[in-house]
Amino acid sequence: MFGNLWKMNFGRLSKTRWNSRFYSGSSQYRRFNNRQSNNFTTLIADPTARKYIGLTAGAGALFYLTHLEEAPVSGRMRFIWLPRSLELKIANYSYNSVLRETQGSILPSNDPLTIKVTKIFRQIVEAAAKDPSIDKELLQGIDWEVHIVNDPRAPPNAFVLPGGKVFVFSSILNICKNDDGLATVLSHEFAHQLARHTAENLSKAPIYSILGVVLYTITGADVFNRLILDSFLKMPASRQMETEADHIGLMVMSRACFKTEEAVQLWERMAQFEQKMKGAGRFAPEFLSTHPASDRRIENMKSWMPQAQELRAQSNCGATGGFYDDFQTLFGGRRSGQSVPSGEIASIF
Ligand SMILES: [Zn+2]
Repeated sequence: MFGNLWKMNFGRLSKTRWNSRFYSGSSQYRRFNNRQSNNFTTLIADPTARKYIGLTAGAGALFYLTHLEEAPVSGRMRFIWLPRSLELKIANYSYNSVLRETQGSILPSNDPLTIKVTKIFRQIVEAAAKDPSIDKELLQGIDWEVHIVNDPRAPPNAFVLPGGKVFVFSSILNICKNDDGLATVLSHEFAHQLARHTAENLSKAPIYSILGVVLYTITGADVFNRLILDSFLKMPASRQMETEADHIGLMVMSRACFKTEEAVQLWERMAQFEQKMKGAGRFAPEFLSTHPASDRRIENMKSWMPQAQELRAQSNCGATGGFYDDFQTLFGGRRSGQSVPSGEIASIF
């Protein structure tokens, strides 16, 4: 979600530039295109320019290759140059901004629901600390804090910020249904941070900007370039991160002794909710979506299930699970009858 907030802001900035550049008449638009193509041809023909372009590209490639890191669980190599300190500063700014927006709706820290969700989240954090593939530095010195936003008008949502601040919107609890469903959501959100997806998104932002400028110099058509970048780079990367968060999240919740099969149930309920909200035939095709299609997601979950169940069996879960079934009572008893918000489905999923 944090990534999405950032993307929304970035999108707004880009749109403003786009508008000022192109909303000035169609004849000017054509002249501008021709000038860009000529500029590119001139640039490539100049040996000095070619030399500097080569040097810059070489330095860029070296920087890229020396800043590749391995993601936990999936082992995917990804480019991250953003220092952790800067990532935390940005997250803190974002935290304060979300706090301002949700002020007045956050349940107190001693509310039984806050206590319960915090307990589930801490169980997940403790399990992650036992995973050898996870960078323990990401878990040290973090002041974990769970906020329940009790606003029935807000769409179902939950997210974890890099600094350890967790937000759960009450409207998602109906879909979670039980502790294991909530653990699935929290593990997925936490997995985004365990894999440093926020830092990865912020690290790639300048690359997308540079590619945008290069493409614009060649084609002069901003809309076309945006389509290329979104379809072939940004959206596939986003879907890849979502799938990775599903995988890491499932492994972490299994290690934390939650019922693994409930993860599939949760995503099925989420798919049903999505269907109910958007109506049949109104879904964006997966290729154009930032998130994997629900069917694909559920199939993935099922394919990882043997690995997850084996991990759970090795985790000395024993009688753990004593507090599983009272979630529904706690939540349902106090907030039954609230209608599901008619807004769009949580963008985080
Ligand atoms: Zn996600």
